[in-house]
Amino acid sequence: QCAAVCPTAAIVPKSHVDRVWDEVQADDTYVVAQVAPAVRVALGEMFGMKPGETVTGKITAALRMLGFDAVYDTSFGADLTVAEEAAEFLERRTAGERLPMFTSCCPAWVKFAEQSFPELLPNLSSCMSPQSMVGSLVKRTVPEETGVDASRVKVVSIMPCTAKKYEAQRPELSREGEPYVDHVLTTAELGRMIQEAGIRFADLPASSMDLPMGFSSGAGVIFGNSGGVAEAVARYVGDGETLNVAVVQGIAEAKDLAREVREGRSDYDLIEVMACPGGCIGGAGQPVSFEHETHSRRAEGLRENDAAMPLRRSSDNPFIGRYYEGILGGRPGSHEAHELLHTEYRSRKRIEDAQIPLVTGRGERKVAVRVCVGTSCFLRGSQDLLTRLIHRLADDGLEELVDINATFCSERCNLGPTVHIDDEVIYGATVDAVTERVRELTGMLVAG
Ligand code: SF4
Repeated sequence: QCAAVCPTAAIVPKSHVDRVWDEVQADDTYVVAQVAPAVRVALGEMFGMKPGETVTGKITAALRMLGFDAVYDTSFGADLTVAEEAAEFLERRTAGERLPMFTSCCPAWVKFAEQSFPELLPNLSSCMSPQSMVGSLVKRTVPEETGVDASRVKVVSIMPCTAKKYEAQRPELSREGEPYVDHVLTTAELGRMIQEAGIRFADLPASSMDLPMGFSSGAGVIFGNSGGVAEAVARYVGDGETLNVAVVQGIAEAKDLAREVREGRSDYDLIEVMACPGGCIGGAGQPVSFEHETHSRRAEGLRENDAAMPLRRSSDNPFIGRYYEGILGGRPGSHEAHELLHTEYRSRKRIEDAQIPLVTGRGERKVAVRVCVGTSCFLRGSQDLLTRLIHRLADDGLEELVDINATFCSERCNLGPTVHIDDEVIYGATVDAVTERVRELTGMLVAG
């Protein structure tokens, strides 16, 4: 999200453009593209079109001109995700366990949960994201169908998302050393490839995606909007079911709700989390826009796509049914479906409150010293200050009266290094200044 809002483009996503050019130009590769829902209502912005204008057919035509061998729709993966997630949810509800269920299609949320709420990982749906489901099925079926050696079938995702680049590299999302997704282009990166190729995008005639994975229901398309995943699951679970659903956008909101769940203060059945504002339509890989209405127009564009689809529920997608009849074990939630479409998570827990205790005095009343080691303070020498301070306080015989912590204070970063001593703050701190103040305060402790 820093990349999406930085006015000077000081932060940009790491580009996969060069490696994708290499793949599509190689003679012996079969390169499959998959296009996420949110891309189709944003890419046109790079070619003079309005946000929200649907350009699915032009994207497909452009990808064929760039050299892709097949073009699939990540919304097909979204339909599969809905089928699997709904089956998983109903199973948990019947058993009365691991509820509320959190969605797992946003890799930024999944990683945040792994780092900050590992105790909630059993509550996350074990479904892979739509990107990985499509990648997994392509790698499983396309070598056989095309006769191309499995190592030469490559999957390139076109995503509104920078976190999907990270997701594609997760070792769990691979089979026999082959990742399900080889490269991830952001919407903006695909736009640049189209520009580099000299294609007049706005004038392209529409082209259709390839079957079977180029077909999706309306439910698969609204995955790109915040609330879309929950709605798609609700459509699938169907009549007569009452679900208590929460829809969360942004990690700050997710953190609050995760705390409620951890503390048993939530009575939701299903919680959808998307890390970006508005969901994937506001992803950091989308064309940068500072226009107020861009997100709402893209969201409206996806809703119009949904309304125009002949089939609205994921369960109505006939090609999903064919995969279940074939390699997916006959029904959502089968053993085979778990093998091909589910994953697992692990704790990557970081220190809970961002405070690292270094020296803890033994007395009952102590002076609390917290040295900020955030990036700005670090660059201003706070790490060195911290080390020297520990030695100085020990040399001066004050260590028993002081608790020293490294911390990340995020306050007035331009004035660092910052040191908090009890309730006081010293900006531009030096070892001498901190020691002097500590000496005064510990003197009061001893005296008082
Ligand atoms: Fe990626 Fe943002 Fe969508 Fe999450 S919400 S999958 S981070 S674009």
